Amino acid sequence: MKAVGIDLGTTFSALAVLNDYGNPEIVPNREGERITPSVALFDAENQVTVGAIAKNTAVSDPENVVEFIKRQMGNPDFVFVHSGREFRPEDISAMIIKKLKADAETLLGAELPSAVITVPAYFDDARRQATMNAGRIAGFNVLGIVNEPTAAALAYGMSNPDVRQRILVYDLGGGTFDVTLMEVTEGKIRVLATDGDHQLGGKDFDDKIIMYCNDEFKREHGIDLLDDLEALQDLRQRAESAKKTLSSRDSAKITISAQGARLTVEMARKQFEEMTAELLVRSEMLLDAVMGAAELGWADVDQVLLVGGMTRMPAVMEMIRRVSGKEPTLSVNPDEAIALGAAIYAGIILAGRGDPEVVLSEAGRRLRDTVIEDVTSHSYGVLLVDSKTGSDINEIMIAKNSPIPAARTATYYVHEDGQSCVELVVLQGEDRNPANCNEIGRVVLPLGGSKPRNYPIEVTYEYDVNMIMHATIKDPQTGAQKSLQITQQGRLTNAEVEEKRETMQEVEVV
Ligand code: AMP
Repeated sequence: MKAVGIDLGTTFSALAVLNDYGNPEIVPNREGERITPSVALFDAENQVTVGAIAKNTAVSDPENVVEFIKRQMGNPDFVFVHSGREFRPEDISAMIIKKLKADAETLLGAELPSAVITVPAYFDDARRQATMNAGRIAGFNVLGIVNEPTAAALAYGMSNPDVRQRILVYDLGGGTFDVTLMEVTEGKIRVLATDGDHQLGGKDFDDKIIMYCNDEFKREHGIDLLDDLEALQDLRQRAESAKKTLSSRDSAKITISAQGARLTVEMARKQFEEMTAELLVRSEMLLDAVMGAAELGWADVDQVLLVGGMTRMPAVMEMIRRVSGKEPTLSVNPDEAIALGAAIYAGIILAGRGDPEVVLSEAGRRLRDTVIEDVTSHSYGVLLVDSKTGSDINEIMIAKNSPIPAARTATYYVHEDGQSCVELVVLQGEDRNPANCNEIGRVVLPLGGSKPRNYPIEVTYEYDVNMIMHATIKDPQTGAQKSLQITQQGRLTNAEVEEKRETMQEVEVV
């Protein structure tokens, strides 16, 4: 079975497979491109175009085009309606994956049934589940989910297998930012600490240019481009292209036309850097947080690996040099590293399962012996009532940056006399105040009659290798127990995923 890795990016996606020598290779799409824009154009009922054509159509047909869907993963409120049908983020992501799968199968002349999909390290439970479901809806057997920086380090580690080092991965992509510190030795990758912001990426840099141009256009012509979807889409593409130009030139021109009016805005690199400085400061703060969490100084770090298209921006490199005192490494192609690493990870899983095609080769045996230790990117707590103050608190069960898989059982006590049931509320977040955390699920355990105050209740949290939480609440005296029912709105059940998978077969994705 071929090991397949998919980088499902905010702006671009890519697919890689392990070749017969155990090395990962990008499989180009039908258009011959190594990366595919993560853009879907709803052409007609049951027909969707994914990729460059869809991206180019975003201007002329903005209402039928969906972009940046990764930012909506796990968002229960997002729906895109077309021809009277509703599409959720996982459906649209599934279309992108389906395109990658179909194109690669055609090119390789082989079926690709299973894949590993990458997610930002900072993705929470709902976003990870949604990503897994997207893969399943697209027709894959999803072998696992791997964090993007871990995948990047795998791609890097495989090309430099003999060197033992600590690597900091700074990953600024189209929509998300992740920073991860890890130790890479032959056959082992150990994540020491991770942090990130899933609302920080290239799009935010584009938005700064868009806002500036819109202000200039409004001043000159009195037209607000934010009210003109077509003009705005056009400006979005021009802004992104100007941003890229500013990575290699000192200035860029952006021509805006709307409703018969035109304006050319000239932007200097320095001006762009000033405009976006606060975005880089946000990433710098997270860099500090990761170094602090790992209790390491820059002298302990051997390499800073840059991943994600945005790291081509000179200001990013300058900031890294200033903060770390090191020259960042660019040896892995930042657009392709994640998909390549995901294919290696798929190989590791298949080799671990004894898949004959993988383990028979020398490279396969090497993969089988590779160990990856990742950490949790959030804390997981239980909602308790503080017996002293009577206020609600988030009592952390599994702390952020714990090695995974992680598990813990703790005993808590019934709060009031006469309680006949207890409710477990699972929280995600570091703050002691539950109002600043996300609830990821809740379940009620009936106690079979009223119980006195301080009656013991056992709570178990298990965080698995796919970074998905399983929680159980148990009455240790009767043995009665309940597992977490996910209450997060919008979460799909297995049956719903199956149904969507069937429906997706009817959708022609080109
Ligand atoms: P990724 O999701 O890692 O593919 O990153 C894509 C993001 O990187 C998008 O926001 C692109 O606009 C941005 N990007 C790609 N190339 C460059 C470049 N040369 N300079 C600045 N940003 C770039």
